Amino acid sequence: MKCKIPVAQPEIGDEELENVTAAVKSGWVSSKGPFIEEFEKNFANYIGTKYGVSASSGTTALHLALVALGIGKGDKVLVPSLDFISVANVVTYVGAEPVFVDSHPDYWCMDPSKISIDTQTKAIIAVHLYGHPCDMDKIMAIAKDHKLHVIEDCAEAHGAEYRGRKTGTFGIISCFSFYGNKIITTGEGGMCLTNNAELAQKMMILRDHGMNPQKRYWHDVIGFNYRMTNLQAALGVAQLKKIDILINKKRRIAFEYNSLLKDLPGITIPPEMSWAKNVYWLYSILVNASIRNKVIEQLEKQGIESRPFFYPSHIMPPHKDNSSLPVAEELSARGINLPSGPALSENEIEIVVKSLRDVLQCSIKSAGNGLM
Ligand SMILES: *Cc1c(COP(=O)(O)O)cnc(C)c1O
Repeated sequence: MKCKIPVAQPEIGDEELENVTAAVKSGWVSSKGPFIEEFEKNFANYIGTKYGVSASSGTTALHLALVALGIGKGDKVLVPSLDFISVANVVTYVGAEPVFVDSHPDYWCMDPSKISIDTQTKAIIAVHLYGHPCDMDKIMAIAKDHKLHVIEDCAEAHGAEYRGRKTGTFGIISCFSFYGNKIITTGEGGMCLTNNAELAQKMMILRDHGMNPQKRYWHDVIGFNYRMTNLQAALGVAQLKKIDILINKKRRIAFEYNSLLKDLPGITIPPEMSWAKNVYWLYSILVNASIRNKVIEQLEKQGIESRPFFYPSHIMPPHKDNSSLPVAEELSARGINLPSGPALSENEIEIVVKSLRDVLQCSIKSAGNGLM
């Protein structure tokens, strides 16, 4: 059955259409054209860094960051286990080893107290999960003590803040995704932000086949074709103009859900630590693990799309190790992302909550009967 209330949908208006039309009409449909630099400049400016290097996706942005930092064979990179799989994957793309870190039970991102470091450890990828920032002071202090690079993965956290400062301004490089369900979208797309001119230059060369910018068809290094197109950037320029409106909508949706769900037994609402501004990329709750899948199924029957949390990366076949990361495992088994698209109405939120209430009551009752 097709869901009437989707988990996420982009909000695309006339301005996006005008920009894309202008880009198509101009003939600049590939990875040259004025929208690309405009988008890079405006986005870097919005987050608060000097340089923006656009890329074809969030995943390729992360890959560019690791290559530019010279991370490779024999190196270890600390990543949260509870996360989208591309973070662990990019570490293996460069021949390095992902070392999985458990989650913090209060705010679900990487727990700095669970980090263990040896002489091979070179970097930390701090992922701001579902819109909530990591504890950056702690992560930066550990990185400083051990001379590690910090890369921020802000794919789910455009505009989120840690102690009043935007995520994406802490690490040496930060990476964003503009996939269709992210806070703003370019269809597919990504960007690396940095204040380091040399790294910005390196990433620009790497995304363009490693071509020397002064000497056409001369390649000093092995690069990639990871460029964003002018069409994607045209969409991005228009989306960026309304990013604060979109973030406010996400927060309004979250507060509405919170007020309706906070007293419901059996539900944990998403965190917002005192030091955090959560952008609630996907509004996420925890329920009892024994009923989680059933809740998702029942919601779907009523036309409401929801998603389970990511599986922890350390149990995935390509990355499987024997570690036990109990918090990540528990969150993964209990988490549900509810509909969170910016167009979600108050009425739809009420429908979702009512269904959730019914489903939970039913599940608790049937679990109770099972005991008798
Ligand atoms: C979406 C996402 C990515 C990957 O971005 P793509 O643009 O889909 O390649 C990376 N990390 C996190 C945390 C994400 O949510």
